[in-house]
Amino acid sequence: MLEFPHDAHTHTTYSDGIGSPADNIAAAENLGLKLLGITDHSHYLAVKTFNRYIKEIERWAEDSEIVVLAGVEGNITFNGVDVPDFMAKKLDYVIASVHEWVQTPEEYIELVKLALLDENVDIIGHFGANFPYVGFPSEESLREVLELAEATGKAFEISSRYGVPELEFIRECVRRGIRLTFASDAHEPSDVGKVSWCEKAFKKAGGRKEDLLFESFL
Ligand SMILES: [Zn+2]
Ligand SMILES: [Zn+2]
Repeated sequence: MLEFPHDAHTHTTYSDGIGSPADNIAAAENLGLKLLGITDHSHYLAVKTFNRYIKEIERWAEDSEIVVLAGVEGNITFNGVDVPDFMAKKLDYVIASVHEWVQTPEEYIELVKLALLDENVDIIGHFGANFPYVGFPSEESLREVLELAEATGKAFEISSRYGVPELEFIRECVRRGIRLTFASDAHEPSDVGKVSWCEKAFKKAGGRKEDLLFESFL
């Protein structure tokens, strides 16, 4: 049983997930989650589809006994995060993740810094998922990321899908008052709410309820 039962990162058929928003919500309700975020990939959501997306989530949220939030997962590109203002305004929150092919950890860090400076972004998604492939950044780079996140009030997710960020990084977030979320990054309803790894890492890092971005719903 989870102490902080929430999942702030799930996908549906609006992008590359296989369940509908209703399917994800039903899965979250069955598990006893208190909060579910639906966060489809921004590049699947053209204006018309986006409006349908928001309406559908809002309709199901009204009928649900749990808190259901509408978000997106934007891509951090070398030109910035691909979530336009009109989208961000209608959303409860925006996750920004690196999905670009990068060659070095420094490139990855530069991308994340772009997102940390973007007003529309609330949460950095699966930070460090590429490090095993491109190499780990220096202590100094990580410190710069943490300082910028602290200054701009951004949060990081703890991703059970990728097993990131590193425990030491989560510990630093807690120490600096940078908020955290739990994220399954589910692409099918049966994976919704698989966040026990997140909670374990969070607690190991000394995290308490007030360190969670969505504490008021938990
Ligand atoms: Zn992602
Ligand atoms: Zn995702």
